Amino acid sequence: MRKRVYIAYTGGTIGMTPSEEGYVPRPGYLKEQMEKMLELKSGLMPQYTINEYDPLLDSSNMTPQQWVVIARDIARNYHEYDGFVVLHGTDTMAYTASALSFMLEGLQKPVIFTGSQIPICEIRNDARDNLITAILIAGNFDIPEVCLYFGDRLFRGNRTVKVNADRLDAFDSPNFPPLGTVGVDIKINTHLINRAPGKEIVVHDFGDHSISALRLFPGISAQVVENILHPPLKGLVLETYGLGNIPDQNKELIKVLERACQQGVVIVACTQCLRGTVDLGAYKTGSVLEKIGVISGYDMTTEAALTKMYYLFSRGYSVEEIRRLMQVNIRGELTGPI
Ligand code: ASP
Repeated sequence: MRKRVYIAYTGGTIGMTPSEEGYVPRPGYLKEQMEKMLELKSGLMPQYTINEYDPLLDSSNMTPQQWVVIARDIARNYHEYDGFVVLHGTDTMAYTASALSFMLEGLQKPVIFTGSQIPICEIRNDARDNLITAILIAGNFDIPEVCLYFGDRLFRGNRTVKVNADRLDAFDSPNFPPLGTVGVDIKINTHLINRAPGKEIVVHDFGDHSISALRLFPGISAQVVENILHPPLKGLVLETYGLGNIPDQNKELIKVLERACQQGVVIVACTQCLRGTVDLGAYKTGSVLEKIGVISGYDMTTEAALTKMYYLFSRGYSVEEIRRLMQVNIRGELTGPI
């Protein structure tokens, strides 16, 4: 029996064609191209069904509402297929993959995000390889995780970051090794695969919550930060320096952050560095954050921290519980204290 793969085609460069304003998604085009690809007809390939979304999006236009649409689409088709491929633009793919990892609880089948840097309409492109390999992985491997396949590597989705705007290896997983590598063979690092307890998939929708991210920079004013922290803001991912440091000599800034924590805003410190983990005890400029109620995001990416907050607020937990769970590994998104 040939394996069956469901493809949720949300948009992205992979199926775009040129226009006077640059590349835009073109309805029907990718499907047409896929019908002409002999590789996809081979008996060695899983059979696929493709669901083209309407409208197809440049992923810059993705919102949490679309994350819900994708999660529900997968859940609706869950029992009919062996695996799932989500075709998505690269710009916000790491956010959507992170979001889906939290939304799909009890996942027992592969969900593989992919896309391309060069559209399939161009002679030289990375679309064909990414597409074929993602379908093969989704159909043939026991990887019950939301993953992202790109440029010969398979990553855990909620560990990924887009690191290259114009190279074909657009993604990296700076704080967690690849789940697989693709060369002559497809090699899966089975010992790294997360297996969720439970048998049934449960979709947790994301509600409309006011959550934000802010990158510190030298000279940032308390006023700017205060403006962001105004109600109805519920959660903030604070991109701090290095191990989780902040200008502690800026007393006004510290006061503004402390007041927000006291008023119930969940503030999570992540690092601006691509690799490594937050350690709020390492410097006085970091321990001040711990004192005022900011919590550590450890080695979570901003994408993972932000979408995890959406998830936890949507579950309706108390602020105290959200602060606790943000520091606990729930889908393989963080390594925890060193
Ligand atoms: N702007 C495109 C998108 O994110 C980029 C891409 O797909 O590579 O949809």
